[in-house]
Amino acid sequence: MSEESIVIIGAGHAGVQAAVRLTELGWPGRIVLVEEQDGPTYERPPLSKEYLKAGASDEIPALRKEHYFDEKRIERIKGSGVVGLDREARNVTLSDGGQVQYSKLIIATGSQARPLTVPGSDLPGIHLLKTRADAEALRTAMQPGSEVVIIGAGYIGLEVAAAAAALGCATTVLEFQDRVMSRVTSDVVSRHFEELHQEHDTRFVFGTAVTEVRGDGRVQEVVTADGATYAADVVVAGIGVVPRQELAEAAGITVKDGIVVDLDSRTSDPSVYAVGDVTRLIDEENGINRRLESIQSALAQAINAANHIMGQAPARHEVPWFWTVQHGVRLQTAGLRSPDDDVVVRGTPESGHFSVLYLRGGRLAAIDTIAALGDFTAGKKLVASGAHIDTDLAADPANKLTTAVRELVDETR
Ligand SMILES: Cc1cc2nc3c(=O)[nH]c(=O)nc-3n(C[C@H](O)[C@H](O)[C@H](O)COP(=O)(O)OP(=O)(O)OC[C@H]3O[C@@H](n4cnc5c(N)ncnc54)[C@H](O)[C@@H]3O)c2cc1C
Repeated sequence: MSEESIVIIGAGHAGVQAAVRLTELGWPGRIVLVEEQDGPTYERPPLSKEYLKAGASDEIPALRKEHYFDEKRIERIKGSGVVGLDREARNVTLSDGGQVQYSKLIIATGSQARPLTVPGSDLPGIHLLKTRADAEALRTAMQPGSEVVIIGAGYIGLEVAAAAAALGCATTVLEFQDRVMSRVTSDVVSRHFEELHQEHDTRFVFGTAVTEVRGDGRVQEVVTADGATYAADVVVAGIGVVPRQELAEAAGITVKDGIVVDLDSRTSDPSVYAVGDVTRLIDEENGINRRLESIQSALAQAINAANHIMGQAPARHEVPWFWTVQHGVRLQTAGLRSPDDDVVVRGTPESGHFSVLYLRGGRLAAIDTIAALGDFTAGKKLVASGAHIDTDLAADPANKLTTAVRELVDETR
């Protein structure tokens, strides 16, 4: 029999981590990492943060240096994506017509930025932000004094708004909901960040839907449902992402807004794993059904896929966590909040350092920390252990968060 091969589709955070973990565990066969984009691997978080700042370096940090792949004998195919998957023959077809056989396949194709679909959406001057090329184009377009209209007040929209304002652009954010980051955080945190951006002259228009983009040859204005118009040299759509599940779907693998995987990153085909933004993790026993777009989740899933392939136990299930930085203020989140959670504010937003605890049935389910690293570190552990919290003690930042624990529920969750 020919040598066993693992083919990984996508050399983003999840795909590269899967390759790294497989080599660490001593996979004896070939590892082939296929990436449709050319050039070195790269980290995505800086694309909407450091990279957009005035005078920022052109360098985007690599996920691994190119010589790492050579040293570990990870074969790289760059600039040629996978366009077909034949599960019966166990091979993938590349856009250049080549084929690669696999014994195990790991799909790590990530997500794509959801495009605008209103009339005028194809006008030059409208940007999405997902790839290195997108970031380069946006950085070139955002010049001091230009009118930048951002559609969507989620993480990406707000990080771009901070960069645009710092560059001296006239910055407007249009948002359908009535507050920023409404999908992921509570009112108190939303308002804090809204004020922060307003202090840097960013204008917000809430409760508004974009209906059209107009311009003569390139974008000039954005139109909303109430008939208002907003002058724009640059438009950035930060309206979410869509999983790149089409290969799996066409091949008959189960998808439900994301390729469905279990805690070991297995899909409905025992030879095929999926990791990162492209997945939906479903674990009915533990009540998990979610699609997460975060580095931490991508890395954890990649490690679990490699572990399973190599017959290792899954890594301990880490609490999901995420961060964003806007105007130098770091918001770190651990756990997944639900809109029905009880909210306890620890400290005061006015001080610039505070945390928000989300309690479900008295237990700490999630925490947001604003410039409060100690609370983040402690909170992450308490979320993992399902701690019961004394809300009076927790609300006073003079107490360490750990002193507010009434009872640790489950150390092994
Ligand atoms: C601007 C920006 C800022 C972000 N900031 C943060 C942050 O601060 N914190 C955080 O936790 N997360 C952040 N994220 C989200 C994070 O980057 C993603 O969750 C993470 O990249 C997911 O990893 P992935 O490997 O699943 O996907 P990706 O990193 O997107 O990699 C997927 C790769 O697959 C390739 N690919 C797709 N289809 C094919 C194919 N058919 N053939 C070959 N190759 C293919 C793509 O070209 C891509 O390189 C940010 C994302 C963006 C875009």
